[in-house]
Amino acid sequence: MSHETPYTSPATAPAHTPQRRTHDAPAPPPLPEAVHTLVIGGGTGGAVFTAVTAALSDETVLLLEAGPDYGAADEGRWPADVLDARSIPLSHDYGLSTATTVGDGVLDLPRARVLGGCSSHNGCTASLGAAADYDEWAARGNPGWDAASVLPLLEWVRGRFRVRRYTTDELTEPQRAFVRAGQAVGLPFADDLDDIAAGEGIGPMPVNVVDGQRYNAAFAFLDAVRDRPNLTVCGDTPVQRLEIREGRAVGAWVSRDGEARLVRAERVVVAAGAYHSPALLLRSGIGAADELSALGVPVAVDRRGVGKHLLDHSCVQLDFHGRAGLVEDLSRLGWNPDEQTVGRKRSSLCDEGPYDLHVFMVAGANSGHPGLPPITLYGGAMRARSEGTVTLAPDLDVSRPVIDHRYGTDPDGYDRQVLSEALDLLRSMARVPELAAVLGEPATAEHDPLEQIVNYCHPAGSCAMGPASDPEAVVDARGAVHGIEGLHVADASIMPAITRGNINLPTAMIGAKIALTLLGLGPDEVTTALPVAHHAPDAPAALVTTTGTKARP
Ligand SMILES: Cc1cc2nc3c(=O)[nH]c(=O)nc-3n(C[C@H](O)[C@H](O)[C@H](O)COP(=O)(O)OP(=O)(O)OC[C@H]3O[C@@H](n4cnc5c(N)ncnc54)[C@H](O)[C@@H]3O)c2cc1C
Repeated sequence: MSHETPYTSPATAPAHTPQRRTHDAPAPPPLPEAVHTLVIGGGTGGAVFTAVTAALSDETVLLLEAGPDYGAADEGRWPADVLDARSIPLSHDYGLSTATTVGDGVLDLPRARVLGGCSSHNGCTASLGAAADYDEWAARGNPGWDAASVLPLLEWVRGRFRVRRYTTDELTEPQRAFVRAGQAVGLPFADDLDDIAAGEGIGPMPVNVVDGQRYNAAFAFLDAVRDRPNLTVCGDTPVQRLEIREGRAVGAWVSRDGEARLVRAERVVVAAGAYHSPALLLRSGIGAADELSALGVPVAVDRRGVGKHLLDHSCVQLDFHGRAGLVEDLSRLGWNPDEQTVGRKRSSLCDEGPYDLHVFMVAGANSGHPGLPPITLYGGAMRARSEGTVTLAPDLDVSRPVIDHRYGTDPDGYDRQVLSEALDLLRSMARVPELAAVLGEPATAEHDPLEQIVNYCHPAGSCAMGPASDPEAVVDARGAVHGIEGLHVADASIMPAITRGNINLPTAMIGAKIALTLLGLGPDEVTTALPVAHHAPDAPAALVTTTGTKARP
């Protein structure tokens, strides 16, 4: 996530942001009439899938992205707000929302409509998840997704994203106080939060930020293959629906300059993210037959799991005014990742995995959103069990599906219990004198934070992977949609269970793994073809830059 009370707090949620801003990206290239592989959505999963397929095959690959493509990083066309890793930009937001589960509030659900997808506006914290997460995916009937199998690809995507570990010397005053407070209440210090084997602990969170700029999936993966003759990348080309004939996906209808056009393909790969991938499948007749019929959508296959089991981590928050002069002091520091300290702990209900609870702090002076409390402490339920839905609105607009996350509603009360324990932990940390001095007075109005559960911006699971025998599963272990030939999904929507960390890197791994699987190749091939040039998680100096070096308060 995030940070960002503007998106997450019902009290401060702004009106919907525009679907698209006016931008000055270059005009997209002409649309081919037919290709071998058509990829829909150039976000984290789609960018990685596309790069791997284009680099390791001669298949013609067409990537269609609804939002703009500003070109390679070194062309210098990307808007400053999208690059600036200090804040989550709203300029390319889809303007989606969900109802709160208490009261009649609305939570904004940030989603970026631009090449790189949410990796182009996210918080850049880098987690691989825990080994137990992937072993669970495999145990749910998805061979090849166990931790030992996916680890080489997780490490590869971490390197391509140029993730760097930070030392405590590089932290700001509030961040250092937060880490020490965690240690004071019993959490061990951790400097390996981007390690799949990491356990409980608190420390600096590694981030994929280079020179103060958000290093998005387009930079990390697509730039290396943009010159390949078999690849065409088209921004500003939203797909309206898939063309399915006799049980096979044969292309997609796209909108280009207001005109609908059919692009034919031998293979279609949907990577439109956990909200838009199910919306696109539903619009194309793949979903619960009765629900599709009620909307007047002809049924291609009755697959009731599409758009169901929508997962996310959920959060509670405590806001503070900050000590006198803190905002001014922080604003003098220049760039620093504001979500850069994370603590992990096992709740009393934790499964056999290493932790299921996050605490983190956002120092608002860097968030770029005036009027926010200077400091917010967050607690997250990292194995949240509440499940929501994605459905089509009556106008069948795939860009604006109806989303109901139902945060904090799991029948056993697991999520609320974990969030309650996260609050206890945060409150005990906030009493540690060093942190208390930095936090200043509480700014949260008198309310129970558990009555205002907010989102962590990690939607997943809405086209879950599982065997055909599981009626709720949407894709198999190759990412192939059950019941439709030639159609795959390769993004966060296929996670059968959410990983217990921020999910950008796991989603990138999904894109890579499905591409390799479809090409019949193993991880070694991709690490050779697209090597990691700058991965230095254990050697921070390699990426320290002038803009990344901070003055001390
Ligand atoms: C505000 C925010 C902060 C976050 N912070 C972090 C963080 O710090 N660390 C972390 O690990 N994760 C973070 N995440 C989560 C992470 O960035 C996402 O989970 C990840 O990027 C999702 O990848 P994806 O491929 O599933 O979808 P996306 O990246 O959302 O990509 C989907 C793409 O498909 C395009 N698309 C949609 N519909 C269509 C269509 N019909 N036709 C063509 N294109 C279409 C979209 O425009 C988009 O580009 C954050 C997310 C958000 C929103």
